[in-house]
Amino acid sequence: KARVFKFGNKTADGNSTMKNLLGGKGANLAEMSSIGIPVPPGFTITTEVCTEYNLLGQGAVVEMINEDIEDCIANIESQMGTIFGDKDNPLLVSVRSGARVSMPGMMDTVLNLGMNDEVVLGLAKKTNNEQFAWDSYRRFIQMYGGVVLGMKPASKDDIDPFEEIMEHLKEKRGIELDTEFTVQDLKDLVYDFKDAVKKRTGQDFPTNPWNQLWGAIIAVFNSWNGDRAIYYRNMNGYPADWGTAVNVQAMVYGNMGDNSGTGVCFTRDAGTGENVFNGEYLINAQGEDVVAGVRTPQQITKLGSQRWAELAKVEETDRAKNYPSLEELMPSIFKELNSYQDILEKHYRDMQDMEFTIQDGKLWILQTRNGKRTGAAMVKIAMDLLKEGMINEKEAILLVEPNKLDELLHPVFDPSALKKANVIAQGLPASPGAATGKIVFFADEANKYKNSILVRIETSPEDLEGMNIAKGILTARGGMTSHAAVVARGMGKCCISGAGALKINYKKRTLTVGDHIYHEGDWISLNGSTGNIIEGKVATIEPELSGEFAEIMKLSDKYSKMKVRTNADSPKDAKVARGFGAQGIGLTRTEHMFFELDRIKAMREMILADTVKGRKQALEDLLPMQRDDFEGIFEAMEGHAVTIRLLDPPLHEFVPHQLATQKDLADEMHISLQAVKNKVAELEEFNPMLGHRGCRLGNTYPEITEMQTRAIIEAALNLKERGVICKPEIMVPLIGTVKEFEAQDAIIRTTANTIFEERNDKVEYLVGTMIEIPRAALMADLIAEKADFFSFGTNDLTQMAFGYSRDDAGKFLPIYIEKGILKNDPFEILDQEGVGQLVKIGTERGRSTKPNLKVGICGEHGGEPSSIEFCYNTGMDYVSCSPYRVPIARLVSAQAAI
Ligand code: ADP
Ligand code: MG
Ligand code: MG
Repeated sequence: KARVFKFGNKTADGNSTMKNLLGGKGANLAEMSSIGIPVPPGFTITTEVCTEYNLLGQGAVVEMINEDIEDCIANIESQMGTIFGDKDNPLLVSVRSGARVSMPGMMDTVLNLGMNDEVVLGLAKKTNNEQFAWDSYRRFIQMYGGVVLGMKPASKDDIDPFEEIMEHLKEKRGIELDTEFTVQDLKDLVYDFKDAVKKRTGQDFPTNPWNQLWGAIIAVFNSWNGDRAIYYRNMNGYPADWGTAVNVQAMVYGNMGDNSGTGVCFTRDAGTGENVFNGEYLINAQGEDVVAGVRTPQQITKLGSQRWAELAKVEETDRAKNYPSLEELMPSIFKELNSYQDILEKHYRDMQDMEFTIQDGKLWILQTRNGKRTGAAMVKIAMDLLKEGMINEKEAILLVEPNKLDELLHPVFDPSALKKANVIAQGLPASPGAATGKIVFFADEANKYKNSILVRIETSPEDLEGMNIAKGILTARGGMTSHAAVVARGMGKCCISGAGALKINYKKRTLTVGDHIYHEGDWISLNGSTGNIIEGKVATIEPELSGEFAEIMKLSDKYSKMKVRTNADSPKDAKVARGFGAQGIGLTRTEHMFFELDRIKAMREMILADTVKGRKQALEDLLPMQRDDFEGIFEAMEGHAVTIRLLDPPLHEFVPHQLATQKDLADEMHISLQAVKNKVAELEEFNPMLGHRGCRLGNTYPEITEMQTRAIIEAALNLKERGVICKPEIMVPLIGTVKEFEAQDAIIRTTANTIFEERNDKVEYLVGTMIEIPRAALMADLIAEKADFFSFGTNDLTQMAFGYSRDDAGKFLPIYIEKGILKNDPFEILDQEGVGQLVKIGTERGRSTKPNLKVGICGEHGGEPSSIEFCYNTGMDYVSCSPYRVPIARLVSAQAAI
C-alpha cells in the first residue's frame, strides 16, 4: 500500500480525484503538476498514515514511511539541485497540513524547514543575499516554535512571545515594517527567538533538519486531534477517521528581494461572481504575509488596482508609482499567471482560488482550490459557467450550495459597516437576515418605535403579533427550534436565540451583557446569519434577487421530481411563498390565526365556556374570521393544494397567565376573576406536549372541528362562486390510533355534507392526517385505509421518538452535541437513522394498503437540505417548508433527483 505520493516536474503519483487519500491540497498539487503547471516538487503523506499514527503511535509510523520519505527528499533534491541539510547548497522545505476539506484548527504551515546556524550561512553565501537568508531563518523559528513547539498564544489576550520580541526591536529601532529590519536586526531576532524557545520549553531549538522534519510531520498529525479541530469536525459531522494528509514541498522564496513576491488570486470575483481575474500580492514577501496584512497588499490587475485606488482615495499618479498592479510591474509574470488561472478554471470547471510565489523572476503555483464565495457570487458563477459552455445544466444546479441561497432572501448588512461593528455577544443563528432597531422588552410594545428589536428571555404564542412587528427577535433562552426561532423563520424574520450571556430584567427594562447595561430604546443590531449581537446601528442593504437566481430556480424545477409546498398561516405568507415558487401549502396552522387581538378574545370565551352551548356561541364568532383567512390563503395559492391542520396546541396556550390580563378578561366576560383563575388552573398540565392537544381536542370538543371544517368548506365554496378553484386538504393532527382518525373523519365529512346540502353546491376535498406519533407510523397500513393523505410532522415525531421535550431540550442538546453523544440537533436535521425509520415504515405501510397515497412532510425538516434529500429517497410527493426556504427546497429537490 502506497503511503507517500510524489509530485513535481510535470508528473505526479496522485491526482485531483484522490482528495480522501491525499487531502484537498495534496490532490490538487498532484493534479497541477501533471497538467504542467509549475509546482515546487514535493510529496504527500496520506491521510491513512494519520489514522495509523493515531492507532499505532510515532515509532510504528516512522518505521513504515521513513524510507519512503528519504526517497522522496532525494527526489526533490535531484529536481531542485540542492541538498537537504547541506551547509553549502541547502534544500529547505515547507510542511503543510491538508485534510479532505479545508479546516480551521489544523496545524499551520511551517516554511523554510531545514534551517540551522550553518545552513543560514550557506544560504546567504549561495544566494549572495544575507538579508533573505536571515529573514528566512527568523521566520522558520517563529513558525516552528509557534506551531510545532506549542508557543502559539492560547487566546486572543495572550501575547505571542515572538511578536513581542519583534515589536520591542521595532520600537527600539524606530521602524514599522518587517522589511525594514537590517541583517544585524535579523540575526539578533534569531538569537532572541532561540532564547525564548529555550526559556519556554526548556529545550534547545532543534538543529538537525531530519528531526525538524519529523517534528513537523508529527505535529500535523497531532493537530488532527486538537481541541479546535475536534470541535469543528463535530460541528460539521466529519468523522475522526478521515485524518489529515501532510504535504512536504521544496521552498520557493518570495522574500529574495524586489524581483520576488507572493500573492493570492481568484479566477472570478468571489463577492459578486463577476468574471474578472483578481487578487493581491506583495513584493519581497513570504507565505501568509498578504493575508496577514503586514503591509498593504497591491492588486494583481490594473483594473483591480484602479478600482482599489478609487475606494482608498489614492490619486492615479500615486497609485501607479507606489501601488502598481502586477500587470504593470511584472507584465510577463502577469501574463503567465493569467494563462494559468485560465487553464485551471477550465480544468476544474469552477472558480479557482490560487496561491503563487515569484522567486527571482520565476513564477510558481502553490495551491489551487474551488474558491469560497458569497451566495450571490455562487448563483452568478453557476449560471455564467453554464452559459460559457464550461458546465452543463445538471452541473450548474449542483454547483449551488443550498444553504447559501438563504443569503439572497433576506436583507443583509452592508459588509463595510459590518467590519466596524462592535459585537457584544453571540447567540444561535436561528433565522438569517439582518436587523437593526431599538430595544423593546414586551411584544405589545413592539410598535413603540419605528424599528424595534424584541428582546425576550423567551417568546410565547402570545407574542406573535409583536414578533411580526419587530424587525428582529433576540432571546436569551431556547434553541434552533424554540418558539422564537420557528416563528421567526416562518416570517423570514431575523432571529437570534439562546444568547446565554444576556441578562434580561423585565422590571427595570434593561439588558445586561457583562458589565454593560442597555436600556429600552437603545439601538442594537442582529446578524441572524452568524448569531452576532452588535451594539448600535448597522446599515443594511436590500437583497437583489438577480436574474441568475430566477434562472437557477427555473432550471431546478426542470429536474426536480418532488413538489415543494410551504408552511403558511396567513394570506400574506402564502403570497410570499407563492412568489418564491411554492406549489401549494403543506401546513396551515389554524391556531396562529387565533392570536390576533379580536380573535384571541373569542377564542378565550370559547375556552372559558362551561357548556357546549357557550362554546358554540363563541365559535360562531370565530367562524367568519377563519373563513376569511382561508379564502385569502386559497386565493393566494392560485389553484394549488392547501393543507389545513385542525386546532393542535393545548388550550392553556390561549389563556392569559398574567393577573392584569386575567382581570381584563374577567371584566369583559362579566365573570369573576376567580372563575378565570380557576379555569387557567384547570387547564394547567404536567406535560402539555403529551397532553390535551391535537385531535384529542377535536374528539373531546367536536364543535371545534365542526366550526373549522365549516370555515374551510364554506371558504372553498365562496371562491368557487367567484370562479377560483381550490382544493382543500383537511388534516387531523396527532393521531395515534385509527379510531381517533375515524372519529374526526366522520365529523368532517358529516359537516361538509351538511354544508353541501345547505348551499346546494359541492367542492372536492381530502381528509388526511399527520403522522407524528410513533404508533401512528407503525399502524400506517390501517390508517391509510381511511386517510386520503399522510403528512409527516417530524417535529413531534422527533420529540416523541427520542423522548426529548422540544421546549426543554435546549438544556442538554448543546452538551450532547459538544460531547459527540449526538451528531447534531435532531430537531434541525432529521435523524435519518432512527426517526427516519418511522418515516420509511409509515410511508411503506401506508402505501401497502393505498398504493397511490399522497405523502409529504411538514416539519421544520422540510426546509433542511439533507432531510429533503431523505424525503426524496423515501418517495415523498412533496416537502413543505417556511416561505423563505422554498427556493432552497426547490434546489435540493432537483439536486436529489440528479
Ligand atoms: P493554508 O492551508 O493555511 O493556506 P498553506 O499550506 O497553503 O496553508 O501555506 C501557507 C502559506 O505558505 C501560503 O501562502 C503558501 O503559498 C505558502 N507556502 C506553502 N508552501 C510553500 C513553499 N514550498 N514555498 C513557498 N511558499 C509556500
Ligand atoms: Mg493555502
Ligand atoms: Mg405536531
